[in-house]
Amino acid sequence: MQFIYTSHPGRVVFGAGSLAHLDREIGLLGAQRALVLSTPEQAAQAEDIAARLGQRCAGVFARAVMHVPIETARQAREEAARVGADCAVAIGGGSTTGLGKAVALESALPILAIPTTYAGSEMTAIYGITEGGLKKTGRDARVLPKTVIYDPELTLSLPTAMSATSGMNAIAHAVEALYAVDANPIISMMSEDGIRALAKGLPQVMRNPADIEARSLCMYGAWLCGVALNGTSMALHHKLCHTLGGTFNLPHAETHTVVLPHATAYNAKAAPEAMTRVARALGAADAAQGLYDLEVALGTPRSLQALGMPESGLDNAADLAAANPYANPVPIGRAAIRRLLDNAFFGRAPV
Ligand code: NAD
Repeated sequence: MQFIYTSHPGRVVFGAGSLAHLDREIGLLGAQRALVLSTPEQAAQAEDIAARLGQRCAGVFARAVMHVPIETARQAREEAARVGADCAVAIGGGSTTGLGKAVALESALPILAIPTTYAGSEMTAIYGITEGGLKKTGRDARVLPKTVIYDPELTLSLPTAMSATSGMNAIAHAVEALYAVDANPIISMMSEDGIRALAKGLPQVMRNPADIEARSLCMYGAWLCGVALNGTSMALHHKLCHTLGGTFNLPHAETHTVVLPHATAYNAKAAPEAMTRVARALGAADAAQGLYDLEVALGTPRSLQALGMPESGLDNAADLAAANPYANPVPIGRAAIRRLLDNAFFGRAPV
């Protein structure tokens, strides 16, 4: 065994009702004036946070949007400076957390993240900013939230369809962490348990979205999967999704959902241990088929076609995916990727 494991520096407060500890947590950060960030759709939740913070709230910036446009990031930074903020509270999914990260990158403001989806961004030092239509991503320790409050009650409003695809997005982080070139036993343990928690919790959420135990299980899984994303290098699946999302403007979580069983099948032969762990976590005989079956049970989209991908773009997508080599259990072959994309396009079972 030889590996490098960087322990996670952040503080996590977990559990239903834990938002009640917000004021204490802001105090522990040594902050006095928080700028609250959210999307326009979650402005009411942001106002609730502002009310809880009282004197410690410097303002609300409810303009986060998908993919963190540089203009929005600049506006948020300017607003933080204008109101004299000494920390940012990001309440929402990956888009809002992403905006918080863009603010932290330039201003070094500490971020307190309050996730409301299962995307896992709050656990990573990975940021993305879109400029001139191109999304640039990078890693920087400054963007990692200092504190994360996981309150499953905040996910009760997450629609079931989004809960399912967001949960599959999280599972994708853990699947790739298990066969990553820099995988390690700690992250693998977290990955397997993350998949197990989501595979158990998501179907329960589909049956009863108000089931707080199921919501807690999903959020716990999302946390572990986010740590897995941060702790390892992602491969084929994430590269493919990045290409498809960026080039064809496909929705983030849904694209991850559709591609995951196919990318898993692609790598199956060269990553037997990872496959055993994924299958075990799913309670399935086969990892890729088990993921596909979970998606059938959850009723998620299963074809790129249904997400608006043009069939005429498949060749271009295969070219792009095969263009830049990167570490992957099975070498990236253009013809094999094209077949993978074809299966994903038509929503066939993974091969
Ligand atoms: P999102 O943040 O874009 O949210 C989608 C919509 O759902 C928004 O309108 C949001 O306001 C709403 N929403 C969120 N939580 C809700 C709730 N509980 N109730 C009702 N509505 C709610 O979606 P996402 O999938 O969480 O994030 C996707 C983005 O995050 C992508 O841009 C992706 O690249 C990024 N991401 C980054 C990382 C990372 O480590 N940097 C990891 C995962 C995802």
